[in-house]
Amino acid sequence: MSDTSGPNLRANDPHSREPVHFDCRLYEGLSELTWWGSRIFTEPVRVRGSAVFNGDYYDVSYVIHGTMHMTCSRCLEDVCVPLEKSFSRIAMEADDSISPWGDTILLDDGNLDVAAMASADLLLEMEGVFLCREDCPGLCQVCGKHKDLSCGCDPNPPDPRFDALRKLLDENIDE
Ligand SMILES: [Zn+2]
Ligand SMILES: [Zn+2]
Repeated sequence: MSDTSGPNLRANDPHSREPVHFDCRLYEGLSELTWWGSRIFTEPVRVRGSAVFNGDYYDVSYVIHGTMHMTCSRCLEDVCVPLEKSFSRIAMEADDSISPWGDTILLDDGNLDVAAMASADLLLEMEGVFLCREDCPGLCQVCGKHKDLSCGCDPNPPDPRFDALRKLLDENIDE
């Protein structure tokens, strides 16, 4: 496993069509990613993958392994989530004659910037909502405790605005 930012894809003879493998530990770049103001990654992640030249461009596929520190959007609990996610991208040499399309990765003299690629892809994965588990019940509206703790609060507390009306009704019933 190398600690460098990424492989040089020109290391292989492009005509061989042999995949160039890479296996990096990344922290720089990813350590900037935050969720609700806290760092998502507090230790390096492993990025393993390969790039194959197909005649026109490189097909890059890779897997990120690591641990994410997230906060549940519903119950506000901090959770450590194992991350294992695969991505695929197209990479090509930066060249004025070709205008790259979409999210093509541009190589710098054959160098693939794995850190930039992985953090950009992870950022796209981070949706606005994160749940500790799919059916997280969230917090009790009354006491603010996690609903799993079964605090026993009435989920539909009476609206104080109707107290006066209710009193009036009760008095009428009593008569
Ligand atoms: Zn939750
Ligand atoms: Zn409660």
